[in-house]
Amino acid sequence: MKFGWIMAALLAAAPAGAQDAAYWTAMRTVDARMATIAYRLTTANAALCRDLQPATGVQLHAIDQYDTASQPAARVAFGFARPVQVEVVAPDSPAARAGLTPDDALVAIDGHPVPPPASDKAGTSRTRDAAQAMIAAAPADQPLVLTVEHGGARRTVTVPASPGCRSQFEVLLGPGLKASSDGRVVQVGVRFFELFDDQAIAAIVAHELSHTILRHRARLEAAGVKWGLAAQFGRNARLFRRTEEDADRLSVHLLRNAGYDPQAAVRFWREQGGKIDGGLFRSPTHPSSQARADAIAAEVATLPPVGQPDAAPAVLATRDQPLR
Ligand SMILES: [Zn+2]
Repeated sequence: MKFGWIMAALLAAAPAGAQDAAYWTAMRTVDARMATIAYRLTTANAALCRDLQPATGVQLHAIDQYDTASQPAARVAFGFARPVQVEVVAPDSPAARAGLTPDDALVAIDGHPVPPPASDKAGTSRTRDAAQAMIAAAPADQPLVLTVEHGGARRTVTVPASPGCRSQFEVLLGPGLKASSDGRVVQVGVRFFELFDDQAIAAIVAHELSHTILRHRARLEAAGVKWGLAAQFGRNARLFRRTEEDADRLSVHLLRNAGYDPQAAVRFWREQGGKIDGGLFRSPTHPSSQARADAIAAEVATLPPVGQPDAAPAVLATRDQPLR
């Protein structure tokens, strides 16, 4: 927690366009926290997910994510011997054990060259996303062979098979306390990492990953719901709210399977939920934070004692049911 407040001060002290190397080092620490939480949640819950991918513990980044004009220190801080590099490696992950390290420059994935940036335009995540999509498309139950360069030396690293739920994870810059899942990528605002510890962040990521596992985006679209202002009323609001309640319910099991304390989610909503700003957490589409805390506590009460395996969560069966 203490570190969180140091981060908050650091990020607040960096005006837009003037971030120095220390800022980007701090961002790398935030991305490492996200990668570690994502790795733990996706691998520990692979049995609950239909769509799997190699979950290596690596988070990539690409040079063209960083704008030459407004973020010059990022390119200097990270070096970028090649357009796509390893940004962080989750501790104790297969990638870490296989010897991958931050700033390894990515040459090829399973023998296929990593595509270079499609254009000179900076400020896009397309190059990184293309490399991560190559990894996501590789067989989850097979080792992943990565060709990397570091300090001019090339080596081949075989990452043992490590199936995990298929999703990308991303920390969003900016002041908003926002988190989302569109079924492909889970995004969590950097402010959460400044304010809350890893147990609380894991609760937020588990909630968003639950939306993905329960196919909420696709099911809401199939039900013809409207996003935006119309989401606040009538049937739209009712269906959004139901997906929120189901995601909260499944998140309890994801946390428990990954070795996080599900009570942290209860505490988070009781102590912090009411203070969180932003439309996502205070709208007719979301239950009140006290109602969420109560519902999560009720689901936690159904868990077997610690040490005994959890049964398949009942809410998983909803993923094939139409929302109506
Ligand atoms: Zn949600």
